[in-house]
Amino acid sequence: MTARIIEGLPVAERIRAEVTAEVAQLRAEHGLQPGLAVVLVGDDPASQAYVKSKGEQSLAAGMHSVTHRLPADTRQDELIRLVADLNADPLIHGILVQLPLPSHLDEKPVISAIDPDKDVDGLHVVNAGRLTVGEPALTACTPVGCMVLIRDTLGDVAGKHAVVVGRSRLVGKPIAQLLLAADCTVTMAHSKTQDLAAVCRSADILVAAVGRPRMIRGDWIKPGATVIDVGINRVPFDNPEQAALGKTKLVGDVHYKEALEVAGAITPVPKGVGPMTVAMLLQNTVTAAKRIAGVD
Ligand code: NDP
Repeated sequence: MTARIIEGLPVAERIRAEVTAEVAQLRAEHGLQPGLAVVLVGDDPASQAYVKSKGEQSLAAGMHSVTHRLPADTRQDELIRLVADLNADPLIHGILVQLPLPSHLDEKPVISAIDPDKDVDGLHVVNAGRLTVGEPALTACTPVGCMVLIRDTLGDVAGKHAVVVGRSRLVGKPIAQLLLAADCTVTMAHSKTQDLAAVCRSADILVAAVGRPRMIRGDWIKPGATVIDVGINRVPFDNPEQAALGKTKLVGDVHYKEALEVAGAITPVPKGVGPMTVAMLLQNTVTAAKRIAGVD
């Protein structure tokens, strides 16, 4: 058996097209142009690439888009003042502070300073709380993207056993909450879980959000299971000649080749979950704009 490959790119493109159409409608019918502000502190190359993509894609969707690039030595109070200005800016409906921040800055007070109704990254405790109690929340983009892929693959997931490996605030916890809200029976696994392989083997839906290359092996997967690999890990090429040249590639937390032989469906890395993140950011910004403006 070879698993069906869950391609993220076409799904992300479909969502971007839907968002673009909705933005055009909001502008035409309500004079409302959703606005996204992205804040980048420092010059981390990966963060710069993500921020560039977020700015370009929000503009392409017809949104108002602003990117604030601050120097690496920006002080905590300066960053929080910028967040406060963006909270008060009526043209901005979504605020995203690109993480990680330089090490002299403390993430938590910065995230707490964001107006929860503009927190399109879904990291504020108020949004985490709303998600937990089932109130409308802005939810972290990657987890929502995973749920879209799961629903596209399986349709109704009620009663299925979902195992989420990883319990971070950004990925594991919100994914588990979303699966629970979709009536799955959810197990959360982490670094202290005993016999992780057996726990994974009991999953109809297995979500890996660990950050350890190819940790989840083929024989950890229940035959026919749906596997969502959130991990993004950079490793040397398998080919020793290319590896010797220092060449690297991206792999997930799941051993993809082994998993292909067992799973029913699986997301590749790259081009699986990754492309969904920015698409869901655009969708979250539209949702935030509509809620703030009181548009149904
Ligand atoms: P974190 O480092 O914040 O969390 C990792 C989680 O994995 C922790 O809960 C940790 O457990 C658990 N863990 C670590 N080692 C093991 C182990 N040996 N066995 C079981 N569990 C383990 O990572 P993130 O959640 O932020 O990210 C996870 C992965 O997803 C990374 O590869 C990241 O790059 C990727 N990612 C991808 C995105 C995308 O757009 N596709 C977006 C965001 C992240 P414990 O809590 O016990 O320490």
